[in-house]
Amino acid sequence: MRTHIIDVIPGDGIGQEVVPPALACVDALADRFGFAVEWRHRDWGSELYRSTGAMMPADALDLMATADAILLGAVGAPDIPDDVTLWGLLIPIRRRFEQYVNLRPTRLFDGVRSPLAHPEGLDLVIVRENVEGEYSEVGGRFNRGLEGELAVQEAVFTRAGIERVTRFAADLARRRKGRLTSATKSNGIIHTMPFWDQVVAETVAAEFPEVQLRSVLIDALAAELVLKPARNDVIVASNLFGDILSDIAAATGGSIGIAPSGNLNPERRHPSLFEPVHGSAPDIAGQGIANPLATIWAAAMMLEHLGETEAAAALEQALADTLAAGVATGDIGGTAGTTEFAGAVLARL
Ligand code: ATP
Ligand code: MG
Repeated sequence: MRTHIIDVIPGDGIGQEVVPPALACVDALADRFGFAVEWRHRDWGSELYRSTGAMMPADALDLMATADAILLGAVGAPDIPDDVTLWGLLIPIRRRFEQYVNLRPTRLFDGVRSPLAHPEGLDLVIVRENVEGEYSEVGGRFNRGLEGELAVQEAVFTRAGIERVTRFAADLARRRKGRLTSATKSNGIIHTMPFWDQVVAETVAAEFPEVQLRSVLIDALAAELVLKPARNDVIVASNLFGDILSDIAAATGGSIGIAPSGNLNPERRHPSLFEPVHGSAPDIAGQGIANPLATIWAAAMMLEHLGETEAAAALEQALADTLAAGVATGDIGGTAGTTEFAGAVLARL
């Protein structure tokens, strides 16, 4: 029997509440589809930071290197600065395991109200470049406190980096509707963005001639996601543009409690990490009302990545059926608690 080794980091706040339902769903699917899962629970996050000064132990990355995937709830707490959370856990994992794709699907489920006036056909995937681009360490601050004070931040794009994220996005587009949108700003950012456009176009033309590529300015694309979301299916974007677009997209899907995210090493040489887009939500933690959908959907993405395609599809369908039947948590206008919603999904599995 196939056995998947999964490191589980429930983390902080509602992470502790939304992860157990996701594990229960995967366990149910394992029985039904004939695979096994070995969960390795990791008590990492803010509590560990308060007692040891580190979000995870020194050998955490080595421990996780033997996993097939990582499932994360949320890390972060009001008394801990955001950059401690980011640089103490999320970024080291992303870098060590070369998770150069951030995958963010959005769809409007039946039974969920979108803030958009015309959300019809909203069903898209954003492929965000996750390790280079605008989020670089190159630059500095000069003349601090003096006249002429200034800051410089360089964006770093490599041909190999653009090629590999384009390859992933174009392959996904080919398996979906054959349409790929590339986010650009080559009219204003005159060195890196024309390079991005060129490498994206060359890669698609050479390796995915059947994929129809559309290059759209980031400002126009942001408006389009609000006004005519169905024009797009798969979107490939740089680190910064992808970050912004995926939050717009998540909002159009109805609630941050729905949006999942995968930090992928597509070649599966290293474990990929799956998580909800939302954070630890200290304002609602401990009340049993958090929406577990985003984490369960993230678990479905994890199954897909591990090759359990049928189980992944069954899980996503169970989520859709549960919402369509009118079972929903408070963030999307329902009355179900975390456990009740999860129970309704489990019943459908
Ligand atoms: P962090 O710093 O960990 O990102 P945050 O408070 O900045 O935390 P979120 O945790 O994402 O950001 O919360 C933003 C808002 O969305 C909060 O009001 C929170 O209650 C709500 N929220 C987030 N996740 C969920 C969820 N799964 N179900 C219901 N509401 C949620
Ligand atoms: Mg936050």
